[in-house]
Amino acid sequence: RSQDRVFNFAAGPATLPERVLKKAESELVNWRGSGMSVMEMSHRGKEFLSIIQKAEADLRTLLDIPSNYSVLFLQGGATTQFAAIPLNLCKPNDPVDYLVTGSWGDKAFKEAQKFCKPSVIWSGKSEKYTKIPNFDSLEQNPDARFLHICANETIHGVEFKDYPDPRNKDKILVADMSSNFCSKPVDVSKFGVIYAGAQKNVGPSGVTIVIIRKDLIGNAQEITPVMLDYKIHDENNSLYNTPPCYGIYMCGLVFEDLLEQGGLKEVEKKNIKKADLLYKVIDESNGFYRCPVEKSVRSLMNVPFTLEKPELEAEFIKEAAKEMMVQLKGHRSVGGMRASIYNAMPLAGVEKLVAFMKDFQARHA
Ligand code: PLP
Repeated sequence: RSQDRVFNFAAGPATLPERVLKKAESELVNWRGSGMSVMEMSHRGKEFLSIIQKAEADLRTLLDIPSNYSVLFLQGGATTQFAAIPLNLCKPNDPVDYLVTGSWGDKAFKEAQKFCKPSVIWSGKSEKYTKIPNFDSLEQNPDARFLHICANETIHGVEFKDYPDPRNKDKILVADMSSNFCSKPVDVSKFGVIYAGAQKNVGPSGVTIVIIRKDLIGNAQEITPVMLDYKIHDENNSLYNTPPCYGIYMCGLVFEDLLEQGGLKEVEKKNIKKADLLYKVIDESNGFYRCPVEKSVRSLMNVPFTLEKPELEAEFIKEAAKEMMVQLKGHRSVGGMRASIYNAMPLAGVEKLVAFMKDFQARHA
């Protein structure tokens, strides 16, 4: 680990494995003897085709994606998918269900209002988004075309620990996995669509990954712009127009790295270990630090916490930065602190944060 690298707890764009960055650096100006940077390659040339095909194959291995699912590498961020999902999956008058467990689920719901008839069948807003509902107790609209969830709410730090099983209920489950994508194994066959912006766990911003069951492709509303039509992207293997080539290449390097770590089971173990360390120091601080999220649904990726004495927040951030730990300020909508500890945050980073938190408490309690 380079001494001049900080421990970056940002929520996204977020830290990437240094070994991946170094690998990219080593082939930055001349990718594997091609005499070109990946940035300079034609997206239709054999070099880039090998890059995108390997990225897809590695992602399929990592998540064990069944062959009746397509993998698309798109642009526009997860936010664009908030519109693309209803445009592709329903007609303007179709009812659909949204579980709103945080700000991102709420944004997805609001965007869907333009393209179908969504209802919020559960919202955690009155409890400040600190809970996940018990799925079995919920009333779903019998005709709802799909059920949308945000698998991990990046701002509030609530994460689904298991997913509703809509195979039993004849429903399509759609999940925004932007902030816990590839952080643990997932049974892809439970989902109609999984989508994620890359910039938290798997790469730089600019790449959005969509994993979609093939039978759901090809029914887009007539007004759907070509760039939002899954059929167009699927038929063209994500090369209908110029894709975010360099970003896809970086995602590919990250997928390779995750496979080298032993796959997502191993990655999950590391993530649990890091999160446990951090939640423990919060819970054992006698109220000096507090995490408002119900214990059973605390995120492995984003750990929000407040200080008993909010007037110490600025000092906390300043002192942490002096020790090379940055981006710990909570989202502007909720305040407090937030430590995002995605796959690429090393255990050493969390150990350092925890030691700092204990020391800070000892000096300020
Ligand atoms: N969904 C979740 C869970 C997010 O965390 C974010 C961004 O932070 C988004 C959606 C929006 O993603 P993008 O900025 O890629 O549009």
